[in-house]
Amino acid sequence: MKQLTHTIKKELLKRIYLHHGEWLADTPLACGKGCATCCTQSVTMTGLEGQLIAEYLQQQDRLTELDRILAHRPQTSGPAPITTNAFAEYCLKGVEPAEPVHEEWDFTPCPFLQENICTIYSARPFSCRAFVSTVNCAKTGSAEIAPLVLTVNTVYTQLIEELAQGQLWGKMLDILECYQIKGGGHKNGTTGHHLRRAKPIPGLLVCEEEQKPVQAILERLGAEMISGQPIRTLLGLEEVLYQ
Ligand code: SF4
Repeated sequence: MKQLTHTIKKELLKRIYLHHGEWLADTPLACGKGCATCCTQSVTMTGLEGQLIAEYLQQQDRLTELDRILAHRPQTSGPAPITTNAFAEYCLKGVEPAEPVHEEWDFTPCPFLQENICTIYSARPFSCRAFVSTVNCAKTGSAEIAPLVLTVNTVYTQLIEELAQGQLWGKMLDILECYQIKGGGHKNGTTGHHLRRAKPIPGLLVCEEEQKPVQAILERLGAEMISGQPIRTLLGLEEVLYQ
């Protein structure tokens, strides 16, 4: 991937969110406004997504609210699971991951949820956008997701991690604490045992029969322009698609 400014990275992230939302619009889903079963404190994200949320809250004059949320949250215990691209690296090498892949799910509701409505909806991280289900999971107890949707969501997750590579990765509140806006700029977080660093894409986790539809989606994304340059070039999609 090319060296990109923070502004371009943010534009790319927003475009990836938009592109994913447009693609998903054709899929019949049970999810809707007021459905918040998946809105827990286990949501993970990249530092770049954390910066977008912090900047959104700043624009809305809600940084005090963020400070209050962070001051009252329980501290995360235990090591963070590996990131999606770290997991992909193990898979592509055919090696069992030597680090934790999952952690115990924390069902505490997300602090941005009010009366079952997300109060940062337009800035919510990709994990929230990827939690979709064809059945009402509040009734069935678990979500159902078509295999291709799962694969495409994983690919977008990998792209966002690539875009945020080198930045911290972890649970939403841990990341927001690291990228709080203080004195006019983002705090630069330091790693702890509950945080990881976002990694570049080692290859996509796509099986042979899904390669064609995934390639078509990425080619559509790649053809879009940001600041006069195709996203394909900015994200280095050729390397990702044809490696
Ligand atoms: S950020 Fe919004 S969509 Fe995501 S878990 Fe919190 S309330 Fe739900």
